[in-house]
Amino acid sequence: MKDTFKHKGLRQQLVNVIKAKGIKDTNVLNAIGNIPRHLFMDSSFLDHAYQDKAFPIAADQTISQPYTVAFQTELLKVKSGDKILEIGTGSGYQCAVLCEVGAKVYSIERQQELFKKTSKFLSKLGYRPKKLIFGDGYKGLPDEAPFDGIIVTAGAPFVPKPLLSQLKIGGRLVIPVGDDVQIMNLFIRKGSKEFEQHELGEFRFVPLLEDKN
Ligand code: SAH
Repeated sequence: MKDTFKHKGLRQQLVNVIKAKGIKDTNVLNAIGNIPRHLFMDSSFLDHAYQDKAFPIAADQTISQPYTVAFQTELLKVKSGDKILEIGTGSGYQCAVLCEVGAKVYSIERQQELFKKTSKFLSKLGYRPKKLIFGDGYKGLPDEAPFDGIIVTAGAPFVPKPLLSQLKIGGRLVIPVGDDVQIMNLFIRKGSKEFEQHELGEFRFVPLLEDKN
């Protein structure tokens, strides 16, 4: 597990690319600049780690495009100590970004293989999310609710009700909604039953899968 000056240089270029695409939050930009993304990917993709692209990881899943990770994180407006729930741990890259911006992170992954691999990997790298959970993200995490923010990193066919109900008042849910193409949605909880909704452009994610049992 090596991080070299070459990787750091490439990372700085990636930060500049993301900045040019409109990301302004300096905490988010610093996180992208600090995290060795190449270590989150299969070694066959190492040369591509600092391109602004999604890439395959284990179990037919992907590590999201850095711009998308930055865009979603910026929308969460994380303050240090905020309790954030992530749905879709995957490679752990988004989780690491959330840790870097000071969140207390809870993250759910439904594939056991990824859950195990990523749990080990994040701790090896020194990231300490509050809790990584093997389970179904459609249900959220009622035992730990309410959250300051919830981020869904797979394409959801609809907005799962539990995720809205597990937000604090003032809390934010960032969720890509749609089948082939997703619209990034931001929900801000204004009251127990009131939500402000914003639609923020098209993205493409792997699907948020429903458990059949
Ligand atoms: N945040 C990840 C992105 C991974 S892709 C990263 O930074 O690498 C989306 C992930 O969501 C996949 O790992 C997939 O297995 C997971 N996923 C799909 N449906 C899910 C569900 N119902 N609950 C929890 N995780 C789910």
